[in-house]
Amino acid sequence: MSEPTIEVLIDANTLQARIAELATQIRKDYDGKPLVLVGVLKGSFLFLADLCKHLDNNVIIDFLQTSSYHGGRSTTGVVQIRKDVDVNIEGVDVLLVEDIVDTGTTLSHLIDLLGTRKPASLKIASLLSKPEARRVEVPVEYLGFEIENVFVVGYGLDDAEKYRQLPYIGVVKDS
Ligand code: 5GP
Repeated sequence: MSEPTIEVLIDANTLQARIAELATQIRKDYDGKPLVLVGVLKGSFLFLADLCKHLDNNVIIDFLQTSSYHGGRSTTGVVQIRKDVDVNIEGVDVLLVEDIVDTGTTLSHLIDLLGTRKPASLKIASLLSKPEARRVEVPVEYLGFEIENVFVVGYGLDDAEKYRQLPYIGVVKDS
């Protein structure tokens, strides 16, 4: 079988322009106060990397990793923490940085978990959202794009670990 083709859904320039807008809003809202950015691995790594380049020196970067997909294309609904954050988030402003909100299960679980550690505030930035797929409502303060309920890859997002390196968001077209 030949290699699948990837249809571009959001091109690299559009992504970068929107990320710069989100960063401007974040800079304005936090106004130089210390902020811990917590990237949800692995999907958010490029979004977080590009976002944080626009932010100031009071930013600390950390990561956590969950697993709920187990390499498949649909969620199991069970969220496990594979890697926790390293920094103490008590009393500080935290911004969770996610690649995509699908059912909302992962973020709702993470909000509950990180909330028990008493951060000064806990907000969410997500590059993408699929509102049609939502099962649990989660507040996303900084959202890049709403998309239809299709499985997307690229710019951090994978299909069985492939395509994360693409500079754009695309849809896999099986040939
Ligand atoms: P949720 O818990 O909101 O259902 O799922 C969130 C996680 O599912 C995301 O962080 C991402 O890892 C994965 N996911 C959801 N939709 C997609 C998609 O369209 N493409 C890829 N590659 N991953 C997705």
